[in-house]
Amino acid sequence: MALSILPAGTDRDSPDQVCPVVSDQQVEGVSVAEKLRLMAVHAHPDDESSKGAATMARYVAEGVEVLVATCTGGERGSVLNPKMDRPEVLADISNIRRAEMEKARAILGVDQAWLGFVDSGLPEGDPLPPLPEGCFGLVDPAEGAIPLIKLIREFKPHVMTTYDENGGYPHPDHVMCHKISVVAFDAAGDPEQHPELGEPWQPLKLYYNSGWTRARMLALHEGMLAAGLESPYGEWLEKWSDRADRGDKITTRVECGDYFEVRDDALRAHATQVDPDGFWFHVPMDLQQKVWPTEDFELVRSLVDSPVPESDLFAGIRESIQAR
Ligand SMILES: [Zn+2]
Repeated sequence: MALSILPAGTDRDSPDQVCPVVSDQQVEGVSVAEKLRLMAVHAHPDDESSKGAATMARYVAEGVEVLVATCTGGERGSVLNPKMDRPEVLADISNIRRAEMEKARAILGVDQAWLGFVDSGLPEGDPLPPLPEGCFGLVDPAEGAIPLIKLIREFKPHVMTTYDENGGYPHPDHVMCHKISVVAFDAAGDPEQHPELGEPWQPLKLYYNSGWTRARMLALHEGMLAAGLESPYGEWLEKWSDRADRGDKITTRVECGDYFEVRDDALRAHATQVDPDGFWFHVPMDLQQKVWPTEDFELVRSLVDSPVPESDLFAGIRESIQAR
């Protein structure tokens, strides 16, 4: 399998542009090398726009450098927008999803790199069919972590985000995204591991994106009813007992309601994957901002002093950088 670490839009033949490297040039007296950096690892193009997207947009606005690492090209994603479900779209899905990713990337204001793995698709049926040969879900995590370790050593993030051990959603690529992220977080700073991939760099904090929790869904549901609107969440809440709820694992709530519109714009840029008439977009923006104005995270590794609960992914890191 060909592995590539390429920011979107980069010509494969220009090796001097393989990654947005942090330079040490001076900007207004502040060394760029001391800028805060966040790396968000995601399984497919579109995941970055639905998990932690408003948080990324907020940090970008504050001057943080943000890099999305996308594990797969999303080649086996189904077309979920009825308006895009056309044979010519399906025939060219890889290129279309790259173009959608580039649009979303620009909206969020982040950099983005592809890790070069092939989408596993979401297996369906009983029993589940085997995963297709060569797909991301079947890689050995130690091997799958290699392009990510390289990218960490190039970009030098202070903070990384990924999914929890269940993938946040039972897709084999999401579970593998978790596995390679944890391996890479632990290996990137170790000079004994893969010295050929560059100078060691140890990120200081690792978070899992918190997906839907019952508390968040209930708050939005009740907010909709109180506003006299039809809630799209009633049925999900009734069936909630089947779902694992990780609400008690949240350590960190990042205020980012001002960036929910940016998140939605980025999500709509993934036009094959998102129905712009879907119920998600029917929940009024001001209600979302009022009822649940944060995106939430689980802090799972920290090499700095950062007591929880927190409201900033860089808590404990800003202080140590300023002290240097
Ligand atoms: Zn996904």
